[in-house]
Amino acid sequence: RKFIFVTGGVMSGLGKGITAASTGRLLKNAGFDVTAVKIDPYLNVDAGTMNPYEHGEVYVLKDGAEVDLDLGNYERFLGIDMTADHNITTGKTYQHVIQKERAGDYLGKTVQIIPHVTEDIKRRIREAAEGTDVCIVEVGGTVGDIESMPFLEALRQFASEEEDGDVLFTHVTLVPYSKNGEQKTKPTQHSVKELRSIGLQPDILVGRADDKLEPETKHKIAQFCDVPDAAVFSNPDVPDIYHVPLMVEEEGLDDYVMERLGISDEALPKEER
Ligand code: ADP
Repeated sequence: RKFIFVTGGVMSGLGKGITAASTGRLLKNAGFDVTAVKIDPYLNVDAGTMNPYEHGEVYVLKDGAEVDLDLGNYERFLGIDMTADHNITTGKTYQHVIQKERAGDYLGKTVQIIPHVTEDIKRRIREAAEGTDVCIVEVGGTVGDIESMPFLEALRQFASEEEDGDVLFTHVTLVPYSKNGEQKTKPTQHSVKELRSIGLQPDILVGRADDKLEPETKHKIAQFCDVPDAAVFSNPDVPDIYHVPLMVEEEGLDDYVMERLGISDEALPKEER
């Protein structure tokens, strides 16, 4: 089984969820069975108690789970029905760990974020991915947030437990323009530095900008972030988010992901691709 972890840098609302869902859609088009997990690092157990004016509308899954709107994007992009298990929150994880602690399940051990919370996070991801070929895991929030630390640590452990080539890290960042119209890569550099400081090296970088990234911008990001130029992709503004999968396909994101994961759509009859 393959996993793609999607993190975001610089700021929220970048299009991390749409990038993750688009990657999943392209792999589905290539014939793979794809699912998604959304990690929400807030302390709420679920989105049901959140003010919709502040947080956006609550999305309800088929099992009645009240979750973040992003799960709706995954259901529509991937053509799947998700359940509560596909949304991991800090609240849900801690509640479970504390319940186990009260029940004496930890046999007198000191219960800690590492390993007890991180083990619970990894277990949830593996369970949600069961029976599929590829699982896309999006970490809500921005790298560097206190809240997302246990999740990023769990992903670091997860990647080292899986076989080489089974896990990819995609990092989505903002590429702003300077006053003279230049695409600036510094925020991306800083965000990748932050990611590396917690032991994560991105394999793929996606730059959200008003327009496509210039080849020089991609080259600069590649150099500073230690990835090949071919691993840097654009996610420019489009009038309709359903254009995003086609746009990233044009840049070859699907081929690059499949190559890196060592999977191929070649084996499938053409009409099924
Ligand atoms: P994040 O996961 O980074 O918080 P989302 O994927 O939820 O961001 O996207 C934030 C907002 O930006 C959403 O309203 C989404 O529809 C919009 N959006 C995402 N990508 C694009 C794009 N390429 N062009 C235009 N709007 C986009």
